Amino acid sequence: MAILVTGGTGYIGSHTVVELLHKNEEVVVVDNFINSSSEVVDKIKKITGKEFKFYEVDILDKEKLQKVFEENHITEVIHFAGLKAVGESVAKPLEYYNNNITGTLVLLQVMREYDCKKIIFSSSATVYGDQGVPKYVETMGRGKTTNPYGTTKAMIEKILEDLYVSDNTWGIVLLRYFNPVGAHESGLIGDNPNGIPNNLMPYVQKVAAGRLPELSIYGNDYPTKDGTGVRDFIHVVDLAKGHINAIEKLEKDKTGVYVYNLGTGIGYSVLDIVNTFEKVNGVKVPYKIAPRRAGDLAELYADPTKAKEELGWVAEKNLEDMCRDSWNFAKTN
Ligand code: NAD
Ligand code: UDP
Repeated sequence: MAILVTGGTGYIGSHTVVELLHKNEEVVVVDNFINSSSEVVDKIKKITGKEFKFYEVDILDKEKLQKVFEENHITEVIHFAGLKAVGESVAKPLEYYNNNITGTLVLLQVMREYDCKKIIFSSSATVYGDQGVPKYVETMGRGKTTNPYGTTKAMIEKILEDLYVSDNTWGIVLLRYFNPVGAHESGLIGDNPNGIPNNLMPYVQKVAAGRLPELSIYGNDYPTKDGTGVRDFIHVVDLAKGHINAIEKLEKDKTGVYVYNLGTGIGYSVLDIVNTFEKVNGVKVPYKIAPRRAGDLAELYADPTKAKEELGWVAEKNLEDMCRDSWNFAKTN
């Protein structure tokens, strides 16, 4: 009885595989390395001292995916595989819809064929859109998404809800991540985007390492405590652990569609990140104030109450941990 992790060599997937192996779960990973590398497989084994099966498979390839199900008794799937760059999704909508939506449809068809009907899906706070208030709670409806990436997340949530309506023997957990940052404390795995990063923390890491000259802070005139954008940054290890709680929920309750925010419930500003990163790591992060970035909201953070009450999960690591572990990974990679 194994748990299949799609996209398991990616940033969040690799940390989740580590936590699953720590729990002595049997794990099977598929990834096509479109945004990760084969080295991660060995790094996960080094961190955990445990073995797992890895298949280099594109989830769009139905036959290869069927073979994975044929060769393993898969009872649950944690589905991370997807493309995630917001800007790129605007430039390449067809590639994003195909990879994320069609990939998920192929996966779900193969799961149904092998009578595997438990899935945890990597959704995002982006599906809330602009709710007009900063604190996002699951009772709010999905809002208007502003780019193809976000739309794929909202569409996949809807597809999974429709699937459950058609067959209520499915067990489905939609996890809406807020802003994952940080890295495993070993420094072996972390967020290592190719090229110039879009997200704040990878950019800060590259500036601190001297590989980019300065950070552009997108706006300091927002109605927030210091004028810069506020987000709910969550340590990737806390986020990974949330998947263990979600698996336990599916093993206990078996069927249904459940949606949870995975965030800390605390909003930190861009300047909080810069200042904390400099303080805990003893490095400089030169920055300039730049115009606001199109599509950015001033402030958003999770209401994490439902995950606490129903999953028994809370984020435990603080901003210092996030900044220290991000730098520990960046300076050795
Ligand atoms: P990532 O890019 O590091 O990991 C995704 C992995 O999926 C990569 O290893 C990639 O090679 C693989 N992949 C992509 N398409 C594939 C395909 N067709 N077949 C097989 N493998 C494929 O991204 P991440 O940050 O670890 O994100 C994991 C999931 O969480 C994604 O679905 C992402 O959209 C979602 N998410 C991420 C964030 C974030 O800020 N990192 C926030 C919310 C939601
Ligand atoms: N941000 C910034 N400079 C950057 C990248 C991001 O000032 O180079 C800000 C961005 O405007 C937002 C916050 O950092 O307020 C988080 O942005 P990120 O892209 O990491 O995540 P998002 O919340 O947009 O998904």
